[in-house]
Formats: sequence, structure tokens, C-alpha cells
Amino acid sequence: GPAPESQKEAQAWLEQRGRKFGLFIDNAWSEPGDVFASTNPADGKPLAELTQATADDVDRAVQAARRAQPAWAALGGHGRAKILYAIARLMQKHARLFAVLETLDNGKTIRETRDADLPLVARHFYHHAGWAQLLDEEFPNHRPVGVVGQIVPWNFPLLMLAWKIAPALAAGNTVVFKPAEFTPLTALLFAEICVQAGVPAGVVNIVTGDGRTGEAIVKHEGIDKLAFTGSTEVGRLIREATAGTGKKLSLELGGKSPYIVFEDADIDAAVEGLVDSIWFNQGQVCCAGSRLLVQESVEERFLKKLKARMDNLRLGSPLDKSMDIGALVDPIQRQRIHGLVEAARSEGCEIYQPSACEIPADGSWFPPTLIMGASTSAAVAQAEIFGPVLVAMSFRTPAEAVQLANNTVYGLAACVWSENISLALDVAPQIKAGVVWINTANQFDAACGFGGYKESGYGREGGREGLYEYLVPVSEDARPALPSL
Ligand code: NAD
Repeated sequence: GPAPESQKEAQAWLEQRGRKFGLFIDNAWSEPGDVFASTNPADGKPLAELTQATADDVDRAVQAARRAQPAWAALGGHGRAKILYAIARLMQKHARLFAVLETLDNGKTIRETRDADLPLVARHFYHHAGWAQLLDEEFPNHRPVGVVGQIVPWNFPLLMLAWKIAPALAAGNTVVFKPAEFTPLTALLFAEICVQAGVPAGVVNIVTGDGRTGEAIVKHEGIDKLAFTGSTEVGRLIREATAGTGKKLSLELGGKSPYIVFEDADIDAAVEGLVDSIWFNQGQVCCAGSRLLVQESVEERFLKKLKARMDNLRLGSPLDKSMDIGALVDPIQRQRIHGLVEAARSEGCEIYQPSACEIPADGSWFPPTLIMGASTSAAVAQAEIFGPVLVAMSFRTPAEAVQLANNTVYGLAACVWSENISLALDVAPQIKAGVVWINTANQFDAACGFGGYKESGYGREGGREGLYEYLVPVSEDARPALPSL
């Protein structure tokens, strides 16, 4: 597993704070109030107690953010960049501690938190520090939106935090941020990093709690913009709640992304890509390649290789760095996924799960699962499962592949595998998805806008497109006069 020191450090960090946390508002910690527990999904044991923030707490956080915003904007891009660079460096310095804490709280494997989440988090802050410096030059006719409310899910707690907070701060906004109730710990450690990095009081406020705290943020009149990542269902509630309020809104919601394999694809590489696409983070990934569409002529060969590869996936303690599959975030998810798989079984689908895959007695786990023979309208073919479950279907022609790929209410991501680049480049733009990867999967970069179409939401995060979400255009007469020559 990770160096025992990192594990000790994580436990010591929790102990030092009495495993009980208040809210981080105006660079100060409130006394813990009405608390709820966060547990380790790998063994079901409680990790810490967190405060359920009330509407009054949210109001204090919004007031602090409002007070801080003008000075934060006035600091200028270079001043803000200096602080964002400091955050990025501190995230790298404490990457091991963050990775262990994230794995304890979420159940995802240490290999992923250490090698994917944390490097991407640091990269996001570095990238946006760069944008802060370029802002006056690249966006001369824009100003910050103001105070931003940000709500994220539990699947990439720290990465979603970085996607939200880095661009908001770079553009001169202040934030009230809410982590998911299942995974609040790394956001609280991040609060301490903000203080160390010199973030002024009120610029970053972190309130913990469940959907009720989220609702209080959504409804607060002092919030100018909301950035939400989570379920399509809650996204719809937020759209309704903000209609007519003038709040700017960006939504990153669910997905049911197609993974298309043509007969001329490099089959071994496509199998490996699929393992990453659907079993990364136990399939709890908004852009997971959860629908395999494989050309009929290679279907049998592909599925045979896929099953053999599934047999080699190792499921177990997420802190053990040789593990491929960790725990699901919560037993509620296990129940939900189990229900969907059993419904498919009773409808006559063939279900494949590796026979040698041992499920630990405690905690919430689900084996890698392949469903074959589902109709295109079956629940497992249409609903976002958000778990380690792949649904396989076949097609005959490229046109049919495109039709099947677009047969979804979602439009977040897609993969196309073919050695014929003309075919791949012809098919990719016909798929209505925010990102289409060719002969690869799960490529993310801070410089590249990420987001969806249709029920997957709107707005982009990352790069230049992402910055527009945190800026508003100013009118000609509000612009400073040009210096006379
Ligand atoms: P969720 O919508 O239940 O919760 C997300 C967040 O919203 C949590 O912080 C939760 O406390 C809060 N919330 C719940 N009810 C609320 C309400 N009424 N008002 C305001 N906030 C409320 O989603 P989840 O189950 O935690 O996350 C899984 C979902 O997130 C999946 O559908 C997944 O596809 C999606 N997701 C999307 C992206 C993306 O970038 N598109 C990324 C990650 C996850």
C-alpha cells in the first residue's frame, strides 16, 4: 500500500481535529453543530463527524463571500495567480496525504487517487493561475460574475473541487462550496491549504451538509452564479429553482456514454481502453463508457477477450496499490446497482461476473459486471447505472453504430475505436456528445472544456470555454478609457 507514513499522517490529521469538523467560513472554523458521519466505504467504519450546515450558516458564508469579492477582484490577475500557484504547489506537496484521505473517504483505489486525481488537481490550479495572469489581455471586456455557489458529487471529490474553485478564483469571484455529504474530508483539508496559501478571508467558504444545504445555496439571493455537478434529477430541480432569478447556471449531469468498437479496431487496445472506461473508479464516472457497441463481425472475439481481462481484475482494499477495483461510495449505491442488474437478469439478459472475484465481508462492493442480450430500450441500456456494470450491444454498419450511440437522453462522452482514421473522423462528429475520444478513453486536461449536451447539462469546465462560465461581458461605457497616446 501507500507508504505507512501517509496513512499515519491521514489518521493523525483526523485525530488532531478530534474527528469532528465545523464549517469553514471567512477563514475561520465554526464550532461543530448538528453533525452527520462520513464512513470508510471499504469497511463501513465511521471516519469523522461533519456539520450539517443550516440556511443561516449558508447565509453567513454568502455574506463573507460578498464582503471579500471586491477586494479579491481588485487584487488583479497577477495577485490572484500568485495565490493559485501557491495552492497548486501545496497540493503537490501534500499529495500523498490528500490521496490517502480521499481513498479512505470515497473507497476508490489509491492507485487512482495518487496517479490520476491528485496530479489533475494540481494541474488544474497551475493552469488557472496562468489564466488569471492572462485575463486582462484575453478577456478585456469581462468582469467576474461575483459570488458563486458550487455543489459537487462524491465520485471525484477533490477533482470536482478543483474544476469548480480554480476557474472561479482565477476570474475574480469568491465562492461558497459544498462537497457531497459522503465525501467531505478532502475539501476540509483543502480549506487549510487555502489559509496556508494566503487566500484572503471570505474568498473560499466551505459548508458541509446534504441536499438541504445545497438547496439553501441554490435559493440564496446573494449568489450570482451556480455551478452544479451531480445527478440529472437534482440538476432539473436546480433549473426550476433558479428560473426567473437571473442567476447564471452551469450544469454537469449524468451520462450513458457509448464505447464503439469497429471490426478493424486494435482489439487488445480496445479491451484495455474499455477496462479503463467502465471500471475506472468502479464505474462511478459521469463519462464512463457504460454502453459497449461492438461490430457484429468481431463481437464474439471481443467479448471473449473482455471476459478474460475481467477475470484478472483485482478487487480489494483500496489502500493496497495493486488493486484495480475499490469499494462503492455507499451501501445505498450497491443496493441500487444490484437492483438494476437483477432486473436485467429477470428479463432474460446474460450476466457475466468473474467467478474468482471475492467480495470482502464488510463495506460496499460490487464485482465488475457485463450484461449481454439487453434490448435497446431496457432500463440497463438507458439508465445511468453509475457502477461497475457494462451493457454490451452489437451493430452491423457505421450508420447503425451512430444511431445506437445517439439513442440516449444523455450526451456527455463517447469513444470510437478503429484503425481507419477516415471512418473514425467521419463517425465522431455524428455523435452528440461533449467529448469524443478516438482510440483512447478518459483523457482529461485542464486546458480542454468538458461538458455535455441534452440531459447531460450545459456549460463547459476547463480551458477558455470554462472561464466564460465565471465571467460576464461589460458594456462599452463601463470599460476603462484607452490611454491616450
Ligand atoms: P446528486 O445530484 O444526488 O448530488 C450531488 C450534489 O448535490 C451533492 O453535493 C448533494 O448533496 C447535492 N444535492 C442533493 N440534492 C440537492 C438539492 N435539492 N439542491 C441542491 N443540491 C442538492 O448526485 P450524486 O449521486 O452525488 O452524484 C452522481 C451523479 O453526478 C451522477 O449522475 C453523475 O453522472 C453525475 N456527475 C456528473 C459529472 C459531470 O461532469 N457531468 C461529474 C461527476 C458526476
